[in-house]
Amino acid sequence: MNSFDTLDLIEPLRRAVAQAGYESPTPIQAKAIPPLLEGRDVLGCAQTGTGKTAAFLLPILQRLASSPTQGKPKIRALVLTPTRELAAQIGDNFKEYAKFLPLRHRVIFGGVKQGAQVADLRRGIDVLVATPGRLLDLQGQGFIHLNNVEFFVLDEADRMLDMGFIHDIRRVLRLLPTERQNLLFSATMPEPIVQLASGFLSEPVRVEVDRQSTTVEAIEQRVMFVAKADKKRLLQALLKGDDSIESAIVFTRTKHGANRVVKELAKGGIEAAAIHGNKSQGARTRALAGFKEGRIRVLVATDIASRGIDVDGVSHVFNYDLPNISESYVHRIGRTGRAGRAGIAIAFCEPSESPYLRDIQRLIGRELDVVDDHPWHEPSAIPAVIPHRSERPPAKEGGRSRRSRRRPRGPRRRPN
Ligand code: AMP
Repeated sequence: MNSFDTLDLIEPLRRAVAQAGYESPTPIQAKAIPPLLEGRDVLGCAQTGTGKTAAFLLPILQRLASSPTQGKPKIRALVLTPTRELAAQIGDNFKEYAKFLPLRHRVIFGGVKQGAQVADLRRGIDVLVATPGRLLDLQGQGFIHLNNVEFFVLDEADRMLDMGFIHDIRRVLRLLPTERQNLLFSATMPEPIVQLASGFLSEPVRVEVDRQSTTVEAIEQRVMFVAKADKKRLLQALLKGDDSIESAIVFTRTKHGANRVVKELAKGGIEAAAIHGNKSQGARTRALAGFKEGRIRVLVATDIASRGIDVDGVSHVFNYDLPNISESYVHRIGRTGRAGRAGIAIAFCEPSESPYLRDIQRLIGRELDVVDDHPWHEPSAIPAVIPHRSERPPAKEGGRSRRSRRRPRGPRRRPN
């Protein structure tokens, strides 16, 4: 017995999920699918890796299949996503779930020629998965008509806002008919998302899965204090010396940084591929495929490129540069330790990054485990005040703080 049976899905969908090897709905699916089948708007708080794509695609496919259109298909469902990779992944999921239904879809994103996208749009599709820029571009050229959209999904809304897509989202919303079912998914729910959601969702059912349990608890989180100039040596040494690192994603803050890390690793005989916005779509797809198939052990990524990448079995995530937005840390380490598997996240912290570390520890409510038995340990990177559990009284002015004990040399902060 497949417990998807309790969800009232039509037979072609049940067959498809069974073929996909899904035995039971994930928590977000169990919570979101029933209200979506009833036609309710849904505000979902869930990260990639929780099964959220099926949570929104299955009910949409069911509703589309139950009221088929005559003649050439029209765009009846629009899924807006921040990145090309995520769009492509949703397209792959569509193929899997809709394989026994007569529904057509198309994924569109920028960075590639528009010809093939336009040809498919001309033939007619039921579901459009798109990134905002190319969507508006093709709509402006008259290739896309959104006046038949019945289902609108805004996926990874927090990342959309981070990437500055808010105006594009508002433009898209203005192109949609007012009568429609809306879904918004976001890994985090900061105030701007709540506001955006209240602007277009109508009495939404709020569903969430516990982010804490999928990331913080399942992942072993370590920090290594290191001077900026030694990070590359430290990374090489770890990748060379530790066989348990089967596959790793290394996060850098910038695209140049990602390229540099790949070059440095290559010098040390470690093959790695970079994935970021300056790479051609072909290069990104190849890198990702190589990584997924296990041919490439190390993927070096910036936040934006990594968002939504669904790769199972990443054993390690390295925060080569610490993110200045603490939420990004949570997204990054969410690439490992998925589906109940233990993962390891290792943060490199250089002296200028210690404030970021402090913010991250505050956000996740715990300290990372310090690994200091390595040749490049840099005590001056240890944050001045580490939030911790002990009853130790707060350091008094002029008193010996934990930092001053650990840090015998170097400049001392003057009492003011
Ligand atoms: P998502 O969060 O939508 O990116 O999904 C993460 C991964 O979980 C994808 O590889 C899906 O194929 C897989 N998945 C989704 N739903 C289920 C399920 N009910 N059982 C097992 N795997 C699933």
